[in-house]
Amino acid sequence: MSYIRIKSIKSGKGKMYSYAYLVKSVWYKRKYGKRGAGPRQKVIAYIGRVMGLEGFIVKRIFERDGYQCQTEDCYMQIDLTIDHIIPILKGGTNDDDNLQTLCKRCNHKKGTSLHWKTKPRITLLENI
Ligand SMILES: [Zn+2]
Repeated sequence: MSYIRIKSIKSGKGKMYSYAYLVKSVWYKRKYGKRGAGPRQKVIAYIGRVMGLEGFIVKRIFERDGYQCQTEDCYMQIDLTIDHIIPILKGGTNDDDNLQTLCKRCNHKKGTSLHWKTKPRITLLENI
């Protein structure tokens, strides 16, 4: 593997990088922006922006729901959105308890319905 020495502007010291690493990082930055955020982070940030939610809230809900649509018979892991169980228009809040992961299709079908069948939520004992 070939290595390239790159001088750090801050410390003035050289650091060795493999050529493959540099190519990969350049490609990654070009594709996902300067901060090099991965596709998942990008999607989370995007959903947060669209829904007016903080990115970390979106991430927390997705992680709780295992990055899977929460509709009873749906196992979609792509095209995920955050759904308000009780819609904001009907007095719902942005609390975690009122947020769930639904795929785009289910979210569209659910609309503002309050009788949407979802998977039973696993609650950790320590959270009770
Ligand atoms: Zn679904």
